[in-house]
Amino acid sequence: MSEQKAIATPKRTKEILEKYGFSFKKSLGQNFLIDVNILQNIIQHANISEEINAIEVGPGIGALTEQLAIAAHKVAAFEIDGRLVPILKDTLSSYSNVRIINEDILKADIASLWQGYFQDDRPVKVVANLPYYITTRILMHLLMSQLPFSSITAMMQKEVAERMAAHENTKDYGSLSIAIQYYTVASVKMTVPTTVFIPQPRVDSAVLHLEKRQQPPVDLRDESFFFEIVQASFQQRRKTLRNNLNRHFKGKLSKEQVEAGFQHTAIDGTRRGESLSMQEFADIANYFYQQINNIPPS
Ligand code: SAM
Repeated sequence: MSEQKAIATPKRTKEILEKYGFSFKKSLGQNFLIDVNILQNIIQHANISEEINAIEVGPGIGALTEQLAIAAHKVAAFEIDGRLVPILKDTLSSYSNVRIINEDILKADIASLWQGYFQDDRPVKVVANLPYYITTRILMHLLMSQLPFSSITAMMQKEVAERMAAHENTKDYGSLSIAIQYYTVASVKMTVPTTVFIPQPRVDSAVLHLEKRQQPPVDLRDESFFFEIVQASFQQRRKTLRNNLNRHFKGKLSKEQVEAGFQHTAIDGTRRGESLSMQEFADIANYFYQQINNIPPS
């Protein structure tokens, strides 16, 4: 595909938008990419080839979908905005390996589509230029879905990508970093200026790659309890772990019992949540889960 013919050029994008009298819906996070090089970089970071089937979230007018159609075996793209469906039929008419599904990705039955459409054992990867207003919801929804895709490579607000990939003892590290990294190994692949989108978003963007883990990185007695403890530990970022956890366990555990948890796990209660590794959060959560549920120590 020559660059001239690609959808993702300022000229071609404007022509398509004019032809259909399309007006952007800010509420749906519609910022379309107009730079083929950026798209090809995304495809490379996602490691897309003929041996891969791809799921795209939010194809827009098809800028990324087209590059996926060229590189991957099959592409399934979920688009919530019905106005874009006839446009996509037109812009992607020369690709026979693309299926557009006019559904909200948060509500779609992805598993059925998977079986009915991909129909082979090729690994499936998710690739997207995400709508920024629901980036976290979409990623957590996919990661918790149990669908056996192997990775997600997605454009999002730079600040969100940095928080998702952050490690302990950095300002960006928080409960979001732990939620994402519990399921994946996360890395920011590139940052992207506002100028490669139409309309231009107000914030810079970044491409985040999430490689799904085969096994969780820590052993947990109870996942949702673990995430509760993580949330509670970051509730007031500047306060100590002792402070946040006493507050969280009020009425359930005494201060002495909370203190015993710090002793048992050898984690200093004067530390802040941002200094704890995922393993340390797991140790604390597993200990308090036992205490609260009266499980004798193993
Ligand atoms: N992929 C195109 C591109 O790169 O030019 C468009 C990306 S634009 C940032 C996000 C797209 O996601 C829009 O087309 C929007 O309509 C769509 N969208 C928003 N919310 C969605 C949802 N819940 N499910 C599926 N698509 C959604």
